[in-house]
This record gives sequence, structure tokens and C-alpha cells, in this order.
Amino acid sequence: MTIRIILQSVCAVILLCFGCLNTPGYNCLCASLTNYEVHPTTVTPDGIKVDDSGFVVNLDLLDQETISLEQCLSLSIDRTGFTIKIAPDWFTSPSSGNEGFPCNLRPSECSTAPCACAGAVQPPNTVVLPPSLLAYRHEMIHLVTHANHGDPQFELCENTQPLTGN
Ligand SMILES: [Zn+2]
Repeated sequence: MTIRIILQSVCAVILLCFGCLNTPGYNCLCASLTNYEVHPTTVTPDGIKVDDSGFVVNLDLLDQETISLEQCLSLSIDRTGFTIKIAPDWFTSPSSGNEGFPCNLRPSECSTAPCACAGAVQPPNTVVLPPSLLAYRHEMIHLVTHANHGDPQFELCENTQPLTGN
């Protein structure tokens, strides 16, 4: 009787853990630079979930950029495997004029004051951006290929806009 209960418990634990491992979507093993709550408010025509934080987002541009990135990287991107989060506290940097948002970069890693990120992947699979979306491809390369910052893939496949921060 006792053994049966133990076996049932083991089965339950295995099933629970299987559920854990089965988390859908991409998984970035990256530093957590932001800690936003994410609740998708809309979805692009191609099916990418977006939490717009109340700002206007160019959903068609997100779809176009995703297709361009797929072609450049020669791989297919699962539109349901990640979420876009528009940083609710984004601002325009007085020094660079670029849009960014506060993030937990170390001061030595940060070239702007106040320290800001143009984009970030919030683990496991949320791409955080200001409304300009300039860093979208860059962050997607991190998320989809697990490439390290500075990998030649970035030069090849991200857009040509200058980016600061991560
Ligand atoms: Zn990077």
C-alpha cells in the first residue's frame, strides 16, 4: 500500500516536471536587464503577441522585420514563441536622440547617461523595445540564435541604425 502511494507520487512528480520542461516558445539564457510584467494587448497580422503598454506600435513593421530577419538568417521564426513588450517608461535620450528605457546594465557596460537600453530580451522570451522598434532585429538574433553580442551575425542581419546599450 505504501509503495503504491510512493509510486503514484513519483508519477505525479514526473508529470509535473514534464510540464515544466514543456514551456512553449524560445528561451533566452540571458541576463535579466528588465523585469516588466507582460500582458499582451494585441497581435500582429502574422501572429506575434504584443504588449503595447498603451503606445502606438507599427505592427506591420514588426511582421516585415521578422520576414527580413528570417531571410537573412536562413531560418524560420516561430511567431508564437515570443512576445514583444513596449517599455512603459521609455524615453528619448538627450545625448543620442535615440529611444531607450531604463535597464540593469552595469555602469561599465553603459555608454549613455542616464543608462538606457535600446532593446533587451527579458527571459525567457520577451523582447523589450521602445516604440521605435529599432533594436528589434538585434534582440531577435539574441533570442533565436543565442548569438553573443558582437557575433558577426549582428553585423550581417540587424538593421543599420546605431544602437547603444546591450
Ligand atoms: Zn546585443
